[in-house]
Amino acid sequence: MSQSTAPKMSIDEYRDRLHEYKEDFLLCKDIRHVWRVTTSYTSDAEDSTWIYRVLTCQRCTTTRTDYFRLNTNFNRLERGYSTYRYPTGFALRRLPEAKNLSEVMRFESYLRALQASNTGDAKEKKKK
Ligand SMILES: [Zn+2]
Repeated sequence: MSQSTAPKMSIDEYRDRLHEYKEDFLLCKDIRHVWRVTTSYTSDAEDSTWIYRVLTCQRCTTTRTDYFRLNTNFNRLERGYSTYRYPTGFALRRLPEAKNLSEVMRFESYLRALQASNTGDAKEKKKK
């Protein structure tokens, strides 16, 4: 069986996975990565028409390599494509086919924010 035919997870499974999901990963999916250039524009010796640049997320360590085509006729660097390398555990596979998955994910972020702000109250209740 190929991966593409593997059963999708249910929306409840997805919520459960998000409960266990690393805080940094959740933030990056919610408000995007914090990119910083870690390798400036460079090219491979054998093919100097393709220029690339490596960015690294300062929060989750995902790396993105952007490839550009050098057009010396017009003094332009044309955007080509990008590749990504994610840290272990970042990728959520077999995503459910549901609308507004990002809203479900953002709700998990919201729940954690609520829990963080209520931590003081929770400790008070435990004492009683
Ligand atoms: Zn990130």
